[in-house]
Order: sequence, then C-alpha cells, then structure tokens
Amino acid sequence: MLNYETPPHQIIGFNIDQAITLEMRSKSWPKGIIQPLLHAVQKDAQGPQVLKAALGLKENISVGDKILITCIAAQTPWVPNSETDGPAGGAVLARVISKGLGGCPHFVINEKHQQPTISACRALGIPVLSEQDKTRPGSAVMLDFPINYEQAEARALEVLHKYQPKAVIAIETMSPNPKGIVHSASGAAIANEEIEGAYFHVAKQASKQGIYTLGIGDAGNEFGMGRIYSAVREFHPAGAECRCECKTGIATDLSADALIVAGCSNWGAYGVAVMLAYLLEKPELFHTAVEEEHMLRQMAIAGANDAFTGESQASVDNIHLEAHIGLNYLLTEIVKNGLSE
Ligand SMILES: [Zn+2]
Repeated sequence: MLNYETPPHQIIGFNIDQAITLEMRSKSWPKGIIQPLLHAVQKDAQGPQVLKAALGLKENISVGDKILITCIAAQTPWVPNSETDGPAGGAVLARVISKGLGGCPHFVINEKHQQPTISACRALGIPVLSEQDKTRPGSAVMLDFPINYEQAEARALEVLHKYQPKAVIAIETMSPNPKGIVHSASGAAIANEEIEGAYFHVAKQASKQGIYTLGIGDAGNEFGMGRIYSAVREFHPAGAECRCECKTGIATDLSADALIVAGCSNWGAYGVAVMLAYLLEKPELFHTAVEEEHMLRQMAIAGANDAFTGESQASVDNIHLEAHIGLNYLLTEIVKNGLSE
C-alpha cells in the first residue's frame, strides 16, 4: 500500500500504472482482465510495472547503443498494413530513447507493414532512415523482416548478430503458447502460414542471448506475458482454454526481463516513456496531446486499421481519439506536477 512515506518515484509509477490500465472494451470483448493482470505484474516487479521497465531501459541503454523494436502484431488479412495498436507506442518510446538516452532505435518490420510506424515517428519529429542511410542522433532506422513464417527465425538471428542491440522492446507482439501455436486474443489459433511476420522471434532469440527484453501487451498472448503465465491462464477467459484443438490456451510462455500490461499496448509504451521522462527530469521528451492526435491521424492515413473495427480511423482497439488525447494530458500532468516545486 502507498502512504506518505512511499518514495516519490514509486508513487508516480503507481499512478501511471493506474492511468494506463483503464479498461474500455466493447460488449463482445472479454473484460475485467487488465486489473488482475496488472496486480500480477506489480507483484512480480515488487512495485510499479512502469518504474521497473523504465529503470531497465535507463540502465541498459547508453549513448550510441542500438535498440530493436517490434511493434506489429502478427498480421492477418483483417489488418493488412498493420493495426493502430503498436506503431504509436513504438514511435513514442523511440523518441524518449533517442532524445533522452541517446540510443538508436531500430524498428524490425516487414515492408508491407512499415508505413504506419514511419508516419507515427514523423508525426513526433523522428526521421526514419533506411539501413543504408548514415544514422544521426534523434533518428530511427527501419529494418526489413520476412513475411514468411519459415524465414522469421533466421532473420531474427541475423539482425541480432549484425546490430548487437543492448535492448529489445516487443510491443503488441503476438507470441506462441507452450505448444508453439499463436492465438488471437479471442482464442482462435492462427496457422503459421496465416501469420505475416512472426516478429516474436526477434525478442525470443534476444532473450536467449541474454539481451535485455521488455514486453508490452494488453491481452496475454504477447511477448513477455510468460512472466505472469499462470495469471493469464487464470484471469483471461481464453488464457487456459482456446477455441482450437491444442486446448492449451492463448497464454504465451515467452518471458521478458520486464513486462507491461495496459488498456491497449500503445498505452503501455506511453507509460514507460513518460516514466522514463520523469526519471530523466525531462517531461518535454514525452509527446504532447497535439502530437498524439497528429500521430494517430497520420497512422490511419498511412493505412493502419483499428484491429476491432477494421476501419482506417484514428482509434485504437475501439478506443476513440478523444480518450488517447485525454490520457496524454493525464500522464503529462502526473509527471509535470511530480517534478514541479
Ligand atoms: Zn489452441
């Protein structure tokens, strides 16, 4: 429990945790999941989840270090150019990491899914360069990744070997259960040939190599949720029992060094970014509400779909633009107030 003797950074962290885990989901979607999962993560982290994750990034990333980011759910025909949940979170974290820690974020995304992330970064003033371009501070780099499932693991190993990242961040990155089967959050199995871009291989292989990993998700089937595997099985209706023949559930056993659960995955990334801005005492590193609106609109124009409605609109998981703008104001105020005299 919090009290007036709790250290300020802990209180800020708990308040950010609360703000990013507000759950607003449509009638047909399972609810009452995020709070119990948050409690499991906080128990595991022995404190606020965003504080543990932000400290992990701060400790592991120095000026010039390369960071790999995956921020695309394994794609299906429903969202052919990527969904709106993921790219915005990646862009917001890329900005704080590059401008605050001097790290060099490298996105790992198939050519077909890249544009919304590029647009999100540009909306925040982050140029996205190709592998051939000369990198410069404050920019990000885009690396290609194969659509084909069979080629994903080899490409993951190649990218890790070539770029030697100091951290890998996996946002909204759908990952397999212990039987190796990837499921949607609603419990349906996704056949390997239907998965366009098995991005989880990047973080999975990084973890095996001892590289620091951060996983961010909003259901229980995303990379990193292995940290609270039994809680996902207990608290998600499809956690232990899926709708396919494997009968093993959607919960993934792939774990990360730090894990974030949130109302949508973008919010999880925003929470870590604003916590990091607080720790660095530079609240201006976190994007503004105007930039939030610009970013979500630009992503939609770039072809991203809301994964719930399938429409190209400035909404995320059926949470509409105004709520994202509102959350931005809240997170900014928590941190600015915390830093003011
Ligand atoms: Zn199954």
